[in-house]
Amino acid sequence: MFFDSYPRSLQASRFVSAEMPNIPIDIEEDRYSRLRLISWWNQDILRSASVMVVGAGALGNEIIKNLALLGVGTIIIVDFDYVELSNLTRSPLFRARDEGKSKAQAAASAAAALNPDCRFIALHADVTRDIGCGFFRRVDVVIGGLDNREARLAVNRACWKVGTPWVDGAVDDTRGIARSFVPPDGPCYECTLGEQDRKAMAIRESCGFLAAEAYRRDRTPTTPTMASIIAGIQVHEAIKILHVRKHLAGPSDGLVPALIGKAFYFDAASYDCFTIEYTRNEDCLSHEPLDNIIETQLDRQSSTLADVASVASQYIGPDVTIQLPCEMVKALVCNRCGAAEPFYRLARSISPEEAKCPSCGAVRVPDVDVEYTSGAPYEKIPLKDLGFGMMEILPATSRSGSVQIEISKDLELILPV
Ligand SMILES: [Zn+2]
Ligand SMILES: [Zn+2]
Repeated sequence: MFFDSYPRSLQASRFVSAEMPNIPIDIEEDRYSRLRLISWWNQDILRSASVMVVGAGALGNEIIKNLALLGVGTIIIVDFDYVELSNLTRSPLFRARDEGKSKAQAAASAAAALNPDCRFIALHADVTRDIGCGFFRRVDVVIGGLDNREARLAVNRACWKVGTPWVDGAVDDTRGIARSFVPPDGPCYECTLGEQDRKAMAIRESCGFLAAEAYRRDRTPTTPTMASIIAGIQVHEAIKILHVRKHLAGPSDGLVPALIGKAFYFDAASYDCFTIEYTRNEDCLSHEPLDNIIETQLDRQSSTLADVASVASQYIGPDVTIQLPCEMVKALVCNRCGAAEPFYRLARSISPEEAKCPSCGAVRVPDVDVEYTSGAPYEKIPLKDLGFGMMEILPATSRSGSVQIEISKDLELILPV
């Protein structure tokens, strides 16, 4: 694991009973001693685990709190939002003084105070465009505290590309759901989407750079009680997955991750709960794994697409084509006043404001590339300025084959809280 938990020796302290305050009891106790009483428990698995939590809202707060209490070694928190006072009713890690701070940062700081054994990495970032697959392949499990389909799809696609399990959760004021998706077998999140979902997705995707803004306006009503119920199940499932994947526990220990390809539904009106099983859609587009991943010394601050192609050509020869993560806008053209402005950025990183014509205010039409080939006008621009995320993995092909080029050096710029 790249995110090695740094060794921190557990502080064994002498336990003094409250009933007998003056008599020290000679038992070696540490923070995790009660957890160790569980038959299948292995604290070392949790200590060496890296878990990414996407979303630090109501569910995310509860998820992060649980992971911190359990002593998970590395906890990566991803959220692009800021703390608002209205979050405080559902977010045990936030305080009024955190208003205006990054949610990822505020959650990481509070959780670090809960358990200094854990290492926290706060990423103030949007999972749909800023977090590359390089992150997803370096964690053992991803837990979603998300409130929209686009972010779930982004997490799902990244996880299935690199073979990382993920546990999804969703709540509103009366219903909750928890479910896990473990590649490469079984159904993925995209397999669970119905015809209506796909239509809505297609409409949003066809809106190009306006789509990203649309889902950010979603606001779901929920309570801390619902969030804690569902987040508790999500984290419990993630712990089971960690134990089973490390082959240190299984059904003979009474341990089964019970929600793989299944959903647990909870109804807070009746307290009914039930599970349903999903079926795998063999035509689903999310199941293709990335193979031939090459780790490199490239970073998004200074490296360019020409650099990526140059590294790829060492493996697959000349005339490399790089598949872009979304459309690359080369120019924004105003159909009303005819002006065309060169604009070298990935469509997903362009805001609706930027898309407007500065002269007449009309929404401009992009001129785009879907793949990069040598000689493109943006090939010397650093990847970050083009709108690439951190630790992206870029598929490169030539006549002789294909490789996946990871922008690995980004990792060195990411520091724990
Ligand atoms: Zn699928
Ligand atoms: Zn115009």
